[in-house]
Amino acid sequence: MLIPSGSENSQGLKRNTECLESPELQTPSSFQDNPLQQLQLASQEVLEKAKKSGRSKCPRCSSSRMFYCYTCFVPVETVPTKEIPVVKLPLKIDIIKHPNETDGKSTAVHAKLLAPDDVTIYKYPCIPEYEEKRHEIALIFPGPNSISVKDIAFHLQKYAKKGVCDSDDDCSREPFLKQAKIEPEEEKNLNECISSNRSEGTRLKKIIFIDSTWNQTNKIITDERLQGLLQIELKTRKTCFWRHQKGKPDTYLSTIEAIYYFLVDYHQEILKENYKGQYDNLLFFFSFMYTLIKNAKCCAGKE
Ligand SMILES: [Zn+2]
Repeated sequence: MLIPSGSENSQGLKRNTECLESPELQTPSSFQDNPLQQLQLASQEVLEKAKKSGRSKCPRCSSSRMFYCYTCFVPVETVPTKEIPVVKLPLKIDIIKHPNETDGKSTAVHAKLLAPDDVTIYKYPCIPEYEEKRHEIALIFPGPNSISVKDIAFHLQKYAKKGVCDSDDDCSREPFLKQAKIEPEEEKNLNECISSNRSEGTRLKKIIFIDSTWNQTNKIITDERLQGLLQIELKTRKTCFWRHQKGKPDTYLSTIEAIYYFLVDYHQEILKENYKGQYDNLLFFFSFMYTLIKNAKCCAGKE
């Protein structure tokens, strides 16, 4: 659920900034007040209607839900799938959810609903083996070895050059025959390195996010299947998430915010293209719910 952005978080919680919920700390500027206002979003009329009619049934499990079913990852009956925008992503996203994380609180499902072809949600400990694909995968996690988005291409290139055996440790465990077998693959990787000098960064094919509380994340990150993956740290950004976790700075992003900001940076810094709102609709549900909750709080304050 919470993904720290910025490097200051990896060294502990030095910053103790207040969250958006403290009105006295908000700057009058409309962008600071609500960064979601600038988004280019599809019409949210369908959500307005669904809100008015209240909870509806999940077409799969028949549970009563608002907007979408967070266990089946499908919209409810009052929200026709065709009225929900579809976002095409430049790479695949795996989200690893901690089983203890309350499903209804997670924004990870937004990503699956809005980019169904590119997003897969796994419930820990059921996660894929990533070892063979280390040269084209990265994990969003701030830590002592994490790098910034703009350096992804450079670091993945190193993985590719070294092939699957990226550490002495791994190589010594592999029998010689297996090493010999992967040689053509290594050669291919090297060729890719040379040919991709101009299109650097296109090699990243998948990015992994961990969807859990920060304490649970630390348990998942030590899983051996996630060892040796390139770790990425996001730029510092402030969250708009209404379920702010006590004691955590407002630079801890909700999962959908982290995904969104990663893609914006990836688009500009790796794909080197102008950002024109291509991924804004990933915040289709998030921005709607944000406004709902903000208005509700405003009303409560006036009474
Ligand atoms: Zn369901």
